[in-house]
Amino acid sequence: MTRNCTQKETADLLEALKKYDFLADFNLTLYRRQDGDSPAKEIPVTACGAVVHNPFSNKTVIPFLEKQIQGAMRSDKPVICRLHGGLLCFLIPFSIENVGMCLAGEGVREKSINILKLEELCKTTKVDVFKILEQIEMIPVKAYKDVEKVALQTHKILIDRYGEKRQAAAPDKTRNQLTTIVRSLNQIDELKTTEEVVSVASDILRTLFGFPKIAFALRDEATKSFIVKGTFGLPEKLGALPENKLSLFIVPNAAKKTVTIDNEVRKLFPMLDSESVVSFPLEATVSMFGFVALFDAAFDQMDDQLVELLTNRITAKFVQLKKDREHMLVGSLSGNLMTLTNTLLFAENKEELYRSIMEIAADLVGASRGSIMLIDKNGKSMHIGFCKGMNSSVAQSITVKLGEGIAGKVASSGTPLLVHDVEKDSRVRMPNRPRFKTKSLLCVPLKIKDRTMGVLNLSDKENLGVFNESDLNLLASFADLASLMIERTWAIEKSSILEKLSVTDHLTGLYNHRFLRNRLEEELNRSSRSGLNLSVIFIDLDFFKIYNDLCGHLAGDGALRKTADILKASVRDMDIVVRYGGEEFCIVLPDASKTEASFVAERIRQEIETEKFPNEENMPFGRLTASFGIATFPEDGHTFTTLIHSADLALYRAKADGRNRVALGRPVFAKEVA
Ligand code: GH3
Ligand code: MG
Ligand code: MG
Repeated sequence: MTRNCTQKETADLLEALKKYDFLADFNLTLYRRQDGDSPAKEIPVTACGAVVHNPFSNKTVIPFLEKQIQGAMRSDKPVICRLHGGLLCFLIPFSIENVGMCLAGEGVREKSINILKLEELCKTTKVDVFKILEQIEMIPVKAYKDVEKVALQTHKILIDRYGEKRQAAAPDKTRNQLTTIVRSLNQIDELKTTEEVVSVASDILRTLFGFPKIAFALRDEATKSFIVKGTFGLPEKLGALPENKLSLFIVPNAAKKTVTIDNEVRKLFPMLDSESVVSFPLEATVSMFGFVALFDAAFDQMDDQLVELLTNRITAKFVQLKKDREHMLVGSLSGNLMTLTNTLLFAENKEELYRSIMEIAADLVGASRGSIMLIDKNGKSMHIGFCKGMNSSVAQSITVKLGEGIAGKVASSGTPLLVHDVEKDSRVRMPNRPRFKTKSLLCVPLKIKDRTMGVLNLSDKENLGVFNESDLNLLASFADLASLMIERTWAIEKSSILEKLSVTDHLTGLYNHRFLRNRLEEELNRSSRSGLNLSVIFIDLDFFKIYNDLCGHLAGDGALRKTADILKASVRDMDIVVRYGGEEFCIVLPDASKTEASFVAERIRQEIETEKFPNEENMPFGRLTASFGIATFPEDGHTFTTLIHSADLALYRAKADGRNRVALGRPVFAKEVA
């Protein structure tokens, strides 16, 4: 009996469907579940009627559809399939008097024909690819999105006709709403921000359904609540619903919840002047975005489905926007990481580094103001090291105590902070408030492991926007990189300061060049006051480059250390031994005449000559030796410069005369070295 009735109904249905213009291009085939109550996984289906415009397509497509139809019937949802060569098909499961049915619509194709797929197909079915191609080209072209739209409309028709929720009355209203909704849904697809989606969706709900009071509740990660915003017929700022109170509005896994407003809800939202609310969740498999709340709304059943259709689409859009945002963030950080690192690496001093960090950070989150605050030596306060968008001399005078205010708290806790609304945040001290053009600000610590060196503040989001959780995460990741670079620059500057301050050479432990000048000048003053001699001996190892090449740099270092020891051991306590440069040494001998100095030099020359240096037998003369130049105050020069020059010239002669020897200096006058 049921079967007969279904047969007649399928014929009627196909007749009815023929009348719809939007289905005119489609071959329509109705399938019926063969065994009405078989729970089998592979639902057996049989075709039970068709409207065929394009026999080629019908013949080609049908054999491939069984699996897809079974899938659609199991999931009980309309699906769109892409078939060989770019053919498109929709499948809509429904039931007629409890008999599972499925309507297949095919006979259209996407613009681009997948030739490779087609060729593959032709190989397995042994047909001529060109013939098929010719036939496919005759098939009407439809965009995937349009087929989706057609499926949606057809689904509604089927639900109207057979669905449990079908309402005989008001089909016209529904159809109009449907058309508008379909159009609006596509509009939602084009939107770029959550705010735009909320605004358009609210307009649809207002104009199409006439709901008197509409609100959107959207999840706010930072406060772990849903911010409820009136979008029509209600105050804009209604309040926030804590996450754990969501069940007041939403039943898990249910499409909607109707609630009579009770005292608990009234307490949460005192500005609400409503009796009842119907809420529709905006929920995707992995994310709960919030819900749409329609207050004091008169509903008919059809409205339910239409609103659900809309909320599903809003949710899908939210998922897409979220993905886009995540994608953009990852892209903007990882894609630019190399550039960022390079920019920071090439900063020549810390001021330049701070400037780059500030510019990049501001860019990353779209901030127009910001500052880098660095913890002072006392560890108790911070100063601004660099700022953007503020007067820097004023900024430099600001001291922030650790633990106080936003920046002070971030520095002492080492945890990043996002302030949504400066006015409402007790962490922002009153005198600071007027400084912020916009309400939200970001503050992240600059730290390496657990050691905080300062904080990075950003405020005044461009276009009067508000910073969000993603901005905070992005900035925190960047702050890690920035901290490393700051530490590195500090270390470099510190070591160069230390180097400047040091007077000894780290390899040999002898005094260094910088020390020589001061000491020699002092000694010369003393000598000229006391009328005593002073001699300097310049020493340069012979063929030391060759020694390095033959024995390696490490052995070279060892030889330099050994030479230094010989020099120190060969002089009096009052004499000053200096490493002048690479393998050049200088000894200052106060109260020593040229003759006395030449004895000392000769003794040292012999000691170096007889000292056993590793591998020295490979050297040009089979030994490592040194050459010496001596200059004496007052006869060879009166000043540091003239005396050194005279000793240097003597050394040069010792080298020129064959090395491993001592040469005596000659007078040098100031004008000769000017
Ligand atoms: P000459 O007899 O003319 O002085 O010949 P030389 O090879 O010693 O000439 P030069 O002064 O041009 O070369 C000095 C070499 O000393 C160059 C460099 O390889 C080596 N040298 C300089 N400083 C160091 C150092 O700190 N460690 C080592 N291992 N080698 C050094
Ligand atoms: Mg040299
Ligand atoms: Mg040398």
